[in-house]
Amino acid sequence: MKLVILDRDGVINQESDEFIKSPEEWQAIPGSLEAIARLNQAGYRVVLATNQSAVGRQLLDMETLLRIHDKMRYQLAEAGGTLDAIFFCPHRPKDNCDCRKPKPGLFLDIAARLRVPLANVPAVGDSMRDVEAAQAAGACPILVRTGNGQQAEAGVAGRSHIPVYDDLSAAADVLIAGRIPTMHQSQ
Ligand SMILES: [Zn+2]
Repeated sequence: MKLVILDRDGVINQESDEFIKSPEEWQAIPGSLEAIARLNQAGYRVVLATNQSAVGRQLLDMETLLRIHDKMRYQLAEAGGTLDAIFFCPHRPKDNCDCRKPKPGLFLDIAARLRVPLANVPAVGDSMRDVEAAQAAGACPILVRTGNGQQAEAGVAGRSHIPVYDDLSAAADVLIAGRIPTMHQSQ
């Protein structure tokens, strides 16, 4: 089974410092939904792993989060794509849970639920905590320059084995072509 794990905010949709708290605030990054559809067509199952601390901060209730995800899934379906699952962490940083990235809990849950080892599984994110969570879970981090990605790129400078692409569309093209570096870094 080919699997790819994606972050949501800053990878699929535009990032916001104010959190995405309503379906209206969820706006796809151009090309991202089509990129997921191309991954599906190439045989990839696509799963999301996303921090949604706005829930724990009580800026967003679960019903609204589900409505946001309905919008995302609907637009994605129109583009011809589908998500196998959405794993999210609702906690605040101070809750000290095991699932908020950079901790690997969401990734480990995905591995358990899908019964798939994460070695060589690409994980696309736009921030250092995505990279760190992927590494901690044994997956292969990939950065995109959308969202917080340009900051993160500066953070991984010198760790040149972490591939960086302009956006999800560019990363997907490399994955589909089978040219993604899948070496996995141990600490
Ligand atoms: Zn959590």
